[in-house]
Amino acid sequence: MSAEQILQVALDAPLRRLFDYRTPEPAGRCAPQPGKRVRVPFGRRQLVGVVVALTDHTDIPPDKLRAALEVLDEAPVFDARLQHLLAFAAQYYHHPIGEVVAAALPKLARDGATAVEVIACWVSTAAGRDALATGAVSRAPKQCEVLAFIEQQAVERTQLGTPARGSTADELGNAFPTWREAVRALVARGWLTATEYERHGPSTTTPSALLRGEPLHATDEQLAAITAIEAALDRYAPFLLHGITGSGKTEVYLRVIETVLRQGRNALVLVPEIGLTPQLVARFTARFHVPLAVLHSGLTDTERLAAWRSSLAGNARIVIGTRSAVFAPVNNLGIVIVDEEHDASFKQQDTAFRYSARDLAMVRAQQSGIPIVLGSATPSIETLHNAALARYTTLSLPRRTGQSMPPRAATIDLRQHAVRQGLSTPAVEAMRRHLGADGQVLVFINRRGYAPSLVCTACGWMAPCGECDARLTVHLGAAQLRCHHCGAQAPLPEHCPQCGYAVRPVGQGTERVEETLTEWFPDVPIARLDRDIARRRGDAEDVMTRVASGDARILVGTQMVTKGHDFPNVTLVVVLNADQGLFSTDFRAPERLAQTIIQVAGRAGRGDKPGEVLIQSEYPEHPLLQHLLHEGYDGFAREALKEREASAWPPYSRLAAIRASALTLAAAVEFLRTARGAAVVPRGLKVLGPVPAAMAKRASRYHAQLLVECADRATLHRFIDTWLPRIESLTAPRDLRWSLDIDPLELS
Ligand code: ADP
Ligand code: ZN
Ligand code: ZN
Repeated sequence: MSAEQILQVALDAPLRRLFDYRTPEPAGRCAPQPGKRVRVPFGRRQLVGVVVALTDHTDIPPDKLRAALEVLDEAPVFDARLQHLLAFAAQYYHHPIGEVVAAALPKLARDGATAVEVIACWVSTAAGRDALATGAVSRAPKQCEVLAFIEQQAVERTQLGTPARGSTADELGNAFPTWREAVRALVARGWLTATEYERHGPSTTTPSALLRGEPLHATDEQLAAITAIEAALDRYAPFLLHGITGSGKTEVYLRVIETVLRQGRNALVLVPEIGLTPQLVARFTARFHVPLAVLHSGLTDTERLAAWRSSLAGNARIVIGTRSAVFAPVNNLGIVIVDEEHDASFKQQDTAFRYSARDLAMVRAQQSGIPIVLGSATPSIETLHNAALARYTTLSLPRRTGQSMPPRAATIDLRQHAVRQGLSTPAVEAMRRHLGADGQVLVFINRRGYAPSLVCTACGWMAPCGECDARLTVHLGAAQLRCHHCGAQAPLPEHCPQCGYAVRPVGQGTERVEETLTEWFPDVPIARLDRDIARRRGDAEDVMTRVASGDARILVGTQMVTKGHDFPNVTLVVVLNADQGLFSTDFRAPERLAQTIIQVAGRAGRGDKPGEVLIQSEYPEHPLLQHLLHEGYDGFAREALKEREASAWPPYSRLAAIRASALTLAAAVEFLRTARGAAVVPRGLKVLGPVPAAMAKRASRYHAQLLVECADRATLHRFIDTWLPRIESLTAPRDLRWSLDIDPLELS
């Protein structure tokens, strides 16, 4: 067999190996090459995989070796650098390459859709040309102009000898600020038809200018940050942009991206799930006159494919997206930005391939030899540690832009004040004061629904989830009980199913706080923002707009309020239940609590009015709250790092978790015990457990975990490498599932 006739293909299968195929026969239009997709036979099915390498050798006997059916791409969909990134991810997360590659492709591309950009365009019909010639269209001047423009473009293309195609939305948009209505009317009259064409390579329509909007006049601190990053555009350079909320981090990103674009290179911006708001995208489009690709979980498969193609073609100059956008095929990458780098949504925690987009972004920047900026008001403890060790260059924006002052913060001791419906008297008095002074109030409670439990007033029954070790949350508006862990739903009972006596919701959720406040402040318009609201498309937007415009004076919300619109008139923030995170078994809980409090507090007083933050707690003397209050996030982080060091938690050690679930707790624990028994544990490494998960029963399955801890990363990974094949060879009950999580974020 001649050289390099064997394709090593990554297929979306849970097997830690590549699959060998002969090159397709007949050869087909596209030559096989690493990074291209191929269609291959697999058992009786056909699968789409990605060529990882070409070789001249295979261990498969010639009569068993099958031929690939077709090479799908003219050019690789993963360039050499992305191929490296995927290979790195498979190795670092000890995960099958096929599933890693699959995670990096939009669904329709995994199914074999063409990678070439298909662009919608419009061409005139014979009737349309007649109408132009006879003047039949001239009674509608706008339509006449648009039709003439499209016809003119077609003529020019013929004259230039460029391939015939219609006019695109970009082209029409550049010529006419509003054109869609005219195009719709012309199509309806049969004078235009909509078609599409395949665009190879970036758009040839050059925008009139790069900038659509003028940059702001940078503050001295912003300028220092911009200068430092721009001085490093030709090399790998990690930066921590540590700036409080409203200090102008986004403006720094925009300025640096401008310079990158001017160099003819492209930018990748990663944002957390809830950070990718229309407002953020609007800020980019208001500044730059370049195509943008936006990638997030709310897209349809078709939209996601279009954004991916636009990025692959080099048409989109800025790719902005959530977690999986770290794999976006941005060529000629000039900078990576990770906004709100501490956010947990950068870590994939649900599916089998549990990667950290932030950490992989770092690897991507390193491989590409470009800077990466991690931005946050509340950097993760790991990132602060790296900054302290000078692995990252710290750039600080310690002040808010404009006049606004940082808010004053204080605790309210819940043991010393009257509390009604979760609200203490001083908190309510403060609300009255701020509303009276024309301010707005934000009430933060990290729990959606009406109440976290439904309790029988006679026998003590509490509505349990049948599938989880959890209580059902009361959703009064929907008249339902819902489990926030498995999604189970039930109608809201009026009587105790056990004794028939009356039931009563206990505790507070956003719905109930909204109801209470409506009663206490009958003349004040109130808005609520949580995931139940945000689920309906556009509703979160409406709420944000109502608050930003001042129509709503009180906003009750969960974490979701920390992102998106500026609320310049919010002068008071009340944190209702700070105590949940104080005594958790998860060593990261204090960090998350501190971040939440700071992020929520950051919403106060962004305008010219000073802000006030009140944190209700039963433990106001808790060191975490004390450090946070008196020394801010930095003070908290200093203490947190000391504690991590004393107890050898990350960043002073590396962790991996093996989690198992089964239909009985015993089966899950037993599997992990056997796995642990199969380990050859090197010196300096600890295997802890198995222990049941904090909520052992979830969605009718029982969960347990083993924790691997080691100060040395290389030792840990070598250990996992030798251990995994042993675990994979264990016999386990059919219903048992297990997974590996490298650098786990949640440990409860
Ligand atoms: P962050 O991303 O740190 O929260 P932003 O970049 O959103 O901060 O800036 C906060 C507000 O300050 C925005 O309204 C922004 O337009 C404004 N801003 C940012 N930089 C400047 C500047 N140099 N001069 C005036 N206003 C600025
Ligand atoms: Zn009862
Ligand atoms: Zn449940």
